[in-house]
Amino acid sequence: MILSDPQSVVTRFAPSPTGRLHIGHGWSALMAMDWARGGRGQEGAGAAGGIVRLRIEDIDGTRSRPEHVAGIIEDLRWLGVEWDGEPVFQSRRLPLYDAALDRLKAEGLVYPCFCTRTEIAAEIAGSGSAPHGADGPIYPGTCRGLSGQERADRIAAGEAHCWRIDMALAASRAGRLHWRDGDAGLVAAHPERAGDVVLARRDAPTSYHLAATIDDAEMGITHVLRGNDLRAATDIHRLLQALLGLPTPLYRHHPLLVDAQGRRLAKRTQGLSLAELREAGIDPAALRADLRAGRFPVGIGLGSA
Ligand code: GLU
Repeated sequence: MILSDPQSVVTRFAPSPTGRLHIGHGWSALMAMDWARGGRGQEGAGAAGGIVRLRIEDIDGTRSRPEHVAGIIEDLRWLGVEWDGEPVFQSRRLPLYDAALDRLKAEGLVYPCFCTRTEIAAEIAGSGSAPHGADGPIYPGTCRGLSGQERADRIAAGEAHCWRIDMALAASRAGRLHWRDGDAGLVAAHPERAGDVVLARRDAPTSYHLAATIDDAEMGITHVLRGNDLRAATDIHRLLQALLGLPTPLYRHHPLLVDAQGRRLAKRTQGLSLAELREAGIDPAALRADLRAGRFPVGIGLGSA
């Protein structure tokens, strides 16, 4: 593992407020905090060491709820996760993401896509193959070939659309890319495996990939720790950094916690939310020590993916 001077480390924990946090989120947040603060057990905001930021990823207007934001903050405080400064809300930073999207539009690297989910599923089913990338089935590229005139007419007519990256063009423009993994060393990025991912959704003026990449840069994040499920997303973020001239943090990806059947813990998993553990009278200091030592409740373990 690459150790860094804690003084210069800026990490973040970036939950989406679509439910309450579970024990796996708590574990992830503690690890991010420890990475910044220079090791286990060095507690206390303002202690010698790096900086921890909290970012609320609330661009999903239908699933993000203010009560979950309040719950997340309460749960993290109870567990003893301490962050520096005010939480950053993505929903209040939309102009930043817009400006980046405009830049990519001006360079011809994104295109409007008018396909509905049903149309995409039908197109994929008809093609007989369904390769998967970071965000699920790879978009078959239906709208990539529309003429400039057709795009403009359909947008002018108010047709709902998202904006997708033209991955082949963007990846060739960026050339060979790498990112550094704190555990595995230098990793070659293969964003092209994800296909033409969405950079601005139909229902939101950005997407996770664009917003997270811009925020990590704008918030001065030097170290990103997140679950293994986002490893392929890191390749996409690396490409966006190259296209937008942003710095690349050091990354680490931790295994996800799974139940006895090997299923990932979800926000709806019963009995393992931080709120439920608190209500059950669990001592947060003991839970912190257990999580730091990798001791999880009976039946819960690290996933292999
Ligand atoms: N908001 C994402 C989640 O809750 C995490 C994103 C990230 O750490 O980059 O899964």
